Amino acid sequence: MSIQQNQRRIPFVDLAAQYDSIAPEVDEAIARVLRGADFILGADVAAFEREFADYCEIEHAVGVDSGTSALELALRAFNIGPGDEVITQANTFVATVFAIAYTGATPVLVDVDPSTYNMDPELLEKAITPRTKAIMPVHLYGQPADMDPIMEIARRYGLIVIEDACQAHGARYKDRRVGTFGHAAAFSFYPAKNLGAYGDGGMVVTADAQVADAVRLLGNYGQREKYHHLQSGFNRRLDTLQAAVMRIKLRHLDEWNAARRRHAERYSEVLPESVVIPSVPSYAEPVWHLYVIRVPQRDAMRAALAERGIATGIHYPIPIHLQPACRNLGYERGAFPVTEAVAEQILSLPMYPEMSNDAIDYVASAIRDVLEREQPAPGLARTAD
Ligand SMILES: *Cc1c(COP(=O)(O)O)cnc(C)c1O
Repeated sequence: MSIQQNQRRIPFVDLAAQYDSIAPEVDEAIARVLRGADFILGADVAAFEREFADYCEIEHAVGVDSGTSALELALRAFNIGPGDEVITQANTFVATVFAIAYTGATPVLVDVDPSTYNMDPELLEKAITPRTKAIMPVHLYGQPADMDPIMEIARRYGLIVIEDACQAHGARYKDRRVGTFGHAAAFSFYPAKNLGAYGDGGMVVTADAQVADAVRLLGNYGQREKYHHLQSGFNRRLDTLQAAVMRIKLRHLDEWNAARRRHAERYSEVLPESVVIPSVPSYAEPVWHLYVIRVPQRDAMRAALAERGIATGIHYPIPIHLQPACRNLGYERGAFPVTEAVAEQILSLPMYPEMSNDAIDYVASAIRDVLEREQPAPGLARTAD
């Protein structure tokens, strides 16, 4: 039976397909935790911390309940708070900025490089003031930020660097894992991330034993020993159940990231010329959390792809400084022209390890079809309003 074009469905991600590929192992691990009734800071948490630290090629890892908590507790471990400024990029997920604000510090935004969508180191230096305490570069879309100039600036001004690696598990910058450049780094295990839990989870990694210990205390009511509270703290622990699942998934991460890389390379080969494809600097070994293109008349393209059964995303449609929740940061429209311009054109294509080549080709030909039939020639298209 032949399948009609309009019956085809390409999801944006397919977490059920991933579960199918590892179901027996995962079911066994979950059953083991349930039978052991070891739900809070159980043996799997410590084991996963050790295994994730080894994977990241760093000394310490501390499990927490989300990537947002990982960012916030890493900042707090350095006593960053009211009166301090923390510089991050305007193009990121809002959690980067919220985590800074939770500590009482002031988030300061800088624009991104139009070819990598990551922090522009030249703009970073211009944003430094006497109150600046830390820099939070983001390895957005799984693409490593340009860490050498960022670390050089941090050293020169004596600033802490906390990497937001929430989208970049396993990515490398000049052969070194992201998360090992700054004083600490945060990972998220939100289900759709490259390494995702079946719920929320996160991790702080650091080479500094004191920082790891500070995060551990902050995330567990300030106690090292039950009911002995050395300081005030929060409940931000990683569930044993999630840790047990993640130990299984971590063993597959390299193979999944390799599949994402193959898919990205195929997209870049088969997409029409007029589409702006992601550029990969020579320093970068990205892990393709997202495959983000730029097209004129993006919203029309997105709707036309949806009609053809193709789900897409926009990361992110409204820049941080234009969000009502961030009005208090005091930025006007026009403050970050690159972020604002790309927000009108970026489109995230379906990307998950289990995707078939055939699905990628279908997406590419649908985009070609839309560009040729439903839009004016790209050279004539208006790029922004
Ligand atoms: C997902 C994400 C976070 C937050 O992680 P959660 O686990 O959802 O709290 C922070 N920063 C970036 C860039 C992210 O993609």
